[in-house]
Order: sequence, then C-alpha cells, then structure tokens
Amino acid sequence: VKQENIRNFSIIAHIDHGKSTLADRILELTGLLTDRDKKEQYLDRLELERERGITIKAQTVRIPYRARDGQDYILNLIDTPGHVDFSYEVSRSLAACDGALLVVDATQGVEAQTMANVYLALDHDLEIIPVLNKIDLPSADPLRIAEEIEEIVGLDCSDLSLVSAKTGEGVADLMEKIVHLTPAPRGKKDDPLKALIFDSWYDSYLGVMVLFRILDGSIQRGQEIMMFSNRKRFEVAKLGIFSPGPMDTDCLYTGEVGFLCAGIKDLKEARVGDTITNPARPADSPFPGFKRVQPMVFCGLYPVESEDYDGLKNALERLQLNDAALEFEAETSQALGFGFRCGFLGLLHMDVIQERLEREFQVSLIATAPSVVYKVHRVDGEVLEVDNPANLPPVQEIDEVREPYVRMEIHVPNEFVGNVLSLCEEKRGQQKDLRYLSSTRVIITYEIPFAEIVFDFFDRLKSVTKGYASLDYEVLDFRRADLVKMDILINQEPVDAMSVIVHREKAYHKGRSLALKLKRVIPRQLFEVIIQATIGNKVIARERTPPMRKNVTAKCYGGDITRKRKLLEKQKEGKRRMKKMGSVEIPQEAFLAALSSD
Ligand code: GDP
Ligand code: MG
Repeated sequence: VKQENIRNFSIIAHIDHGKSTLADRILELTGLLTDRDKKEQYLDRLELERERGITIKAQTVRIPYRARDGQDYILNLIDTPGHVDFSYEVSRSLAACDGALLVVDATQGVEAQTMANVYLALDHDLEIIPVLNKIDLPSADPLRIAEEIEEIVGLDCSDLSLVSAKTGEGVADLMEKIVHLTPAPRGKKDDPLKALIFDSWYDSYLGVMVLFRILDGSIQRGQEIMMFSNRKRFEVAKLGIFSPGPMDTDCLYTGEVGFLCAGIKDLKEARVGDTITNPARPADSPFPGFKRVQPMVFCGLYPVESEDYDGLKNALERLQLNDAALEFEAETSQALGFGFRCGFLGLLHMDVIQERLEREFQVSLIATAPSVVYKVHRVDGEVLEVDNPANLPPVQEIDEVREPYVRMEIHVPNEFVGNVLSLCEEKRGQQKDLRYLSSTRVIITYEIPFAEIVFDFFDRLKSVTKGYASLDYEVLDFRRADLVKMDILINQEPVDAMSVIVHREKAYHKGRSLALKLKRVIPRQLFEVIIQATIGNKVIARERTPPMRKNVTAKCYGGDITRKRKLLEKQKEGKRRMKKMGSVEIPQEAFLAALSSD
C-alpha cells in the first residue's frame, strides 16, 4: 500500500459514549469481525476491562478498506486506554495517529473526559472528526449537542456525523469521512528509521511485544534496532500487524503501524513513548515527549496469611512483567508483618491490581490507606520523597512538606453546582474557573491537593451529584502545606500501617472520625480496647470498646438455623481478612475505614 493511502486514527470519547461499540461496528462492516467474535466487544478483551467497561490495555487493528472512490486504503485503528490514570499512554497512542473520531453520546453531551481527550488530540495536531452517537435513542438531541460541541470544543459541526454504533446507521458514511478527512502519514521513507512505541506488553511465549508507528524510514525482520532512551540494541525476530489477529510480515514502511518482538526480556527496556531507531543509521533525534511514568499513589499490600508472602511476591512480579508502571518493594510493618509497598499511577490502577491479585492469583490481601508522594524539605537542606507516612522524619527535622496538586475539571448539571463547590472547598480546593457550557451545564475548574481526591472524592462527588458529574484531572506541581503525621494507637500500640499524613486543620476531625470508625469495625474482644489518634505525643481522639460478654449468635433467637449459619459464615469470611495486632484482631474493614475521610 502507498503511504498516501494509510490512515491512522483513534476513537476518543467519554466513558460509555460508545467507543468500543463503534470500533466493533467498523470491524464488522469491513469484514474483520466474525459472528463468533461479536459476542464480546472485541476491543475490550481483558475480563476486568469488560466488567468495568473501560479499556486498560489498548488494542490496535489494521483494517483494509476499499473506499467508494475505488481505491484501497489501510486504516489503522489505534485504541486508547479509557481512564485518567493512563493519560500518558493515551497521549502516546494519540501521537501515533493523524486523526481522531470524537464520539459524543447524543443523549448526554460533552463530558469531562471528552474535553480531556480533545485537549490531548489537539496537542498532537490531530484532525478531529466529531461524531454524534446513539441517534437511535428517542432521547437523542443532536441539535443541542452539536451546539455544545461547537461552543465548548470549538469544532465545526456543520457536517456532523450522526451515527448509531448499535444499529450501524451512519457508520458506512463515517468510514468515507475517515478516509477523506484524516491526513495521510507524513514522514520520509528514505530517512533513518524513527518509530514511536505507543504500547508494549509481555507475552509469555514471545517475550516483550512492542507496538509502534513508523514516523520515518522502514523496519525489517532480522535487522538490529536501538531504543533511543537507553541505547539498548535488539534484533527484530518477529515483525507483524494485527488484523485483527497477529500476522507476520517481513517489512513495514513509513506511516505503518505494527508489532515486533526482539528478544526483549524486560518491559522497562521498551517503554511506551520511547523511540526505536536503526543503530547502523540512527535518526538525529527521538520523537519528543518521552517520559517514564511515575507512580502517584502508594499503598502497602500484605497477605492475610503470612505464608502467602511468597505467593504475593510472585504474583506482583508476574503483574509487573506486563505493567511497567507498577512498582513494589518489600516492606515490613509491625502490625501487618511482611508485605510490599506498591506504587500505582492512580486509584483505578491500584484497584485493578488489587483485584487481579485476589482474583487471578488467589491471594487474600490487606491494603493500607493509599498515600500520595510528599516532598519533605529537611532543615539540613535535603529533600526526601516520602510515599509512606511511616517514613516521615521527626517533626523537628522537617523544614516544610510539599504535596502534589492537580488541576481538576468537573462537568455537572447546574442544579448540583452548589454541592460540588462545597465539596471542593471542603477538600482544600482553590476555584479557578466556573463556566456555563449551556444554560443547564457547568464546567468547574479547581486546583486541589491530589491527596484529597485519593481518598473518597469520587464517591462523594457521585453522591452529591446523583452520578451526573464527570471529572478529569492532571497533575500540576508540588505545593507547601501544613501537613502532619497522625498515628493510630490500639491499646497503646501504634498501628504503623494506619498512620496517615493529613492537613493540620483537618487532623482533629479526621482523627475523631477514624477512631469512631475503628471502634465500629474492630470486633469486640474479651478485654477492653482503647483506640487513640495522636499527633506526636498529643492525643487528639479517643474511643473505647467495652469487653465482649455475649456469644454472637445469641441475638438470633429461636430456631432460625439458616440465619444463624449465615451469620457464622459471614464471620468466618471476615476472619479470612483479619490480622492480629498485638492481641487485637483488626479486620480489613478497619484499614478501609482509614481511607475515607469523613
Ligand atoms: P465506551 O465506554 O465508550 O467504550 O462505550 P461502549 O461502547 O462500551 O458503550 C456503552 C453502552 O452504550 C453500551 O451499553 C452500548 O451497548 C451502548 N451503546 C453504544 N452505542 C450505542 C448506540 O448507538 N445506541 C444505543 N442505543 N446504545 C449504544
Ligand atoms: Mg469501551
């Protein structure tokens, strides 16, 4: 195929607006999807992804397409992860494209992730084709939404594509638009090889698989390649494309998208965003914007049963093979024993890893409260990065503590604006902007400490807006704040895994509510339990649980044996997730309680 007949594009959308359905419809229309594949959305393959309706690992497909002009084209549909935690991966995937379909649900309108994706697409000068989806629904309001897109996104909607990804209506016309509006790849086929890595993963048979787009030059099976960032060299053992299954090729040229295997053992040697070149004739400069993604959220993961430690370690290693952003190191806690301090891109990433550990590797876990990274400036001038409250130096050694801030954009119907503002104020946010998108929809912009949204922000936002708000954020910088370490003591013993770093003004409130929550979730013992929250030597909250007197089943009067059995089973289930802390049993809920801040 000629370079001018290649079209590299992606679909961007707010979650649930129909990205995966539209992708499937395109594959079906072009004959790439058989009835058998159709059962499940092709582009969301991982079980967890399907359940959560989000794409974590992007998929990419080459689609041969004969247009109405009689010419043959190659469309490369480059999928992007669907969550804010993975915005760097999204930005690299978009960098591999020349155009993007902006899919907006015609019954919903522009949402926070719509905008976040548009900003990323504009950063890469992509040709954006607006598409209104779900026009089969009676509540679709194409005129209003088109106006919204023109006004907020600033795209010309005079020739808007109206489609139903579900019924297929409008999709054939959309294919023509993709061909005619998306620019052909630029780049010179005789220049030295320059290819952008936009995805990589570990295959247990083939080793690291690298997905790339050729910006200049060409690549051949058997040739030597070099990664720009680390100068490491590899020999291309396998080269191919996905269409939709893997197919081998001998050579790929400028503008093409494909995969390669080159005996790469470690995902860290082929990172997303890096540039591949030919060591025999290297390109002058890499594709700009390479960065190593940094974990932003940390927590301790401990096996419930200490003999599961090796199993947990093994499982983390296996997951890390496929996830360059997951970090972990061994950590010991007095309360929880041997475990791991793990770093994640964000809360969703953390959730997904925890769930996979439990589900795929059958490890029962106790997770400690998530923490962000703090920059601690010591009086001696040294700057420490602290991701575990337990590692905060003593107060007298600290000059100042800085915490990460994010810029957050919330889209919400106007009747909830008041609720959102008070939530953001409560979370120490600074309002930066408030704009009316239409007479009924508002965009609110805040700068807010990342730590505040790591706890329970999403749930709170959902509840104060009845689920109507959408949110996106990006990390800004580190800012000075009056932060202190708060410890939890149970019967005078500090539970190191429950220490948190909090804003001084919020410490009392948080200490009190945490102590109260712990009182509720720690099962009664045969002795009195005293729960205290402290800052340094100062006790800021105290709760007491009196000793147990009765048998748990005593309150199930009469002969209702099933109810009694259920209760006992429930208790057993609870036991599985408990840790002995001194003489006190602490259930997983207690650690979860440490997460929520109200
Ligand atoms: P994604 O999160 O953007 O990938 O969205 P999905 O493709 O998973 O779609 C979200 C939901 O909307 C699913 O239940 C789809 O069946 C539904 N959906 C997608 N497109 C259409 C459409 O054109 N019409 C209707 N009625 N439903 C649709
Ligand atoms: Mg999807």
